[in-house]
Amino acid sequence: MTTRDIDMVETFFLEDSNLRGRIVRLGRAVNDILHTHAYPAPVATLTGQAAVMALLLSSMLKDDGIFTLQAQGDGPVGTLVADITGHGNVRACARFDQDRLDRWEADEVPETAYMGLIGRGHMVFTIDQGGENTERYQGVVELKGGTLVECVQHYFTQSEQIATGLRLALRRDDDGHWHAGAILLQKMPDSAKPDVDPDAWNRAMVLLQSCTDDELLNAELPVNDLLYRLFHQEGVRAQEPQPVRHQCRCSADRVENVLVAMSSEERLDLAEEDGKISVKCEFCSREYKFDAAELEHKLNNPSGVVQ
Ligand SMILES: [Zn+2]
Repeated sequence: MTTRDIDMVETFFLEDSNLRGRIVRLGRAVNDILHTHAYPAPVATLTGQAAVMALLLSSMLKDDGIFTLQAQGDGPVGTLVADITGHGNVRACARFDQDRLDRWEADEVPETAYMGLIGRGHMVFTIDQGGENTERYQGVVELKGGTLVECVQHYFTQSEQIATGLRLALRRDDDGHWHAGAILLQKMPDSAKPDVDPDAWNRAMVLLQSCTDDELLNAELPVNDLLYRLFHQEGVRAQEPQPVRHQCRCSADRVENVLVAMSSEERLDLAEEDGKISVKCEFCSREYKFDAAELEHKLNNPSGVVQ
């Protein structure tokens, strides 16, 4: 199987059951994300899953908005981050300690326990609507469960009290290509209205769980055909698919702003022997170089007057 340009997310509704869903299929985008990093297998898997999950959960995003999923813990994988913009630009990365990961013998950890590599900690969801909107929403939940799917399900049960069903598959084929697919189903807020069939939720969950990894990942099976196959008796109706791609938001200006926020001593500590400060973007590995003396001079002369 090759990686085709199939990267998309789509919102759908099961009208007869008053349920809302999202379906994600990634080929090239997940490969672009994971190939920039060359992480060990368990870290790569977590990073890819985080990108897929961010796409599943970002349905409320306006054009200039950013949705961020971040997990932080005391384990060998200390941080896992994925974010997505309203325009469909997704990126993801992880911070981990190679020695601690080696001591965990990460290759031996079953995939159903990868979240254990993050250890005890929290998962944070942030919606920043950007632009003119100052609206910002943040949800926090304790990490619970062996997989990212279990952790997210725990969040919706505990914090949001929204019944949520999830299926997520991520796989690397023999040629080294990654494939990802996922479906989320949620009760709409007015699901308790009297004309909704009380068994609809259970029926939808059985149908969702009947979906195989192969169906989620098969690029030859269009997502709308898959939705019809699974939910045609529930009156499935899909919106237009939104294309997504791997795209980082880093820039020299943003990196410079981070350096400017530091103290002069901190900046000098970062400078190499040649007087350059190198900063590597954790998301896309792009490297930015600044001349330490030039930067100090610029900061001391904010009017831009050269002396
Ligand atoms: Zn970057």
